[in-house]
Amino acid sequence: MRNAVPQEIKITKTTTSKITKVDFKNLNFGKVFTDHMFVCDYVNGSWQTPKIIPYGPLTLDPSARVFHYGQAVFEGMKAYKDDRGDTFLFRPDENFIRINKSAERLAIPEFPEEYFFNGLNTLLTLDNEWIKPGFGNSLYIRPFVIATQPSVSASEADEYRFMIICSPAQSYYSGDVSVLVAEKFSRSANGGFGYAKAAGNYAGQFYPTKLAKEQGYQQVIWTDSNTHQYIEEAGTMNVFFRINDTLITAPTSDRILDGITRKSLIALAEKQGYNIDVRPIKVSEIVDAAKNGSLKEIFGAGTAAVVSPVKAFGYQGAHYEIENLENSYASHFKKALMDIQYNKAEDSFGWRVKV
Ligand SMILES: *Cc1c(COP(=O)(O)O)cnc(C)c1O
Repeated sequence: MRNAVPQEIKITKTTTSKITKVDFKNLNFGKVFTDHMFVCDYVNGSWQTPKIIPYGPLTLDPSARVFHYGQAVFEGMKAYKDDRGDTFLFRPDENFIRINKSAERLAIPEFPEEYFFNGLNTLLTLDNEWIKPGFGNSLYIRPFVIATQPSVSASEADEYRFMIICSPAQSYYSGDVSVLVAEKFSRSANGGFGYAKAAGNYAGQFYPTKLAKEQGYQQVIWTDSNTHQYIEEAGTMNVFFRINDTLITAPTSDRILDGITRKSLIALAEKQGYNIDVRPIKVSEIVDAAKNGSLKEIFGAGTAAVVSPVKAFGYQGAHYEIENLENSYASHFKKALMDIQYNKAEDSFGWRVKV
């Protein structure tokens, strides 16, 4: 793996693995965690010797700043195993770059590249049994950083903890979802931190999403905070529309998260000769396309579900259904991407990284 240079990690192995107690055929997403976790503290202006220790609760001071001011960023990535038992990551460099981009925006110190990749590599080797082969099985990896400094004074902390925890996952299919287009609420604003994978972006989403659920929708399609006329993201995923045979997705900005799945789908679509437009998308355009029958598909794109088809959307009190297509772009691109992730297809982009 890239930059996995030898570098000291203090390893304390668990004496009692939990793995035999886990039913790998009935996993709820994000509920079960592997035997070990990676921990690295930032104190006195530098990242200390990283540790891998048995997975377990943390002891933090109640005044730790993360609890009060939400100074926290995270990543979401996956490890995959092929039929020969080899383990792969998908574009992990992108996750590393992004967590530091998110960190910078929240005034969190940059995490060193060798620590990240060496820690990840060592953790995945230790807990390799938890990565099950089989198309759709994976290990969801959650790197995150929190402000641990005990103090409720409102400024950035000078003590942090960087951690990586891992959770075995199965093929994630939530069923086709219905989404509600936001007319009042926003997840991010100009000059804000919508582009960062920050805990606070999620906290602010739950209430509008809860209201949408009460109306029978599972997710919110976020629109621009100024006019609510342009589409930005779907729930916690980037969003694609297919009008006739053209795929459309919004350009990234400081309000939109630069998703790795999104940019991989764009690259795949370009390579395979699909029409793909990256441009601002008006809500009215999608409503018109739904009315005149040219709106063929909507799908979300993100690491957890890869591609998540949308079957209906609500806007200004009206409900629009999208017909189920047999050969959808959503299923085509989901398979194309997963074939690369699981080492079932040639990877001409060099996205797959062996652990
Ligand atoms: C993580 C995330 C995505 C998807 O990014 P991927 O890199 O594809 O997993 C999209 N939108 C938001 C808000 C996210 O937090």
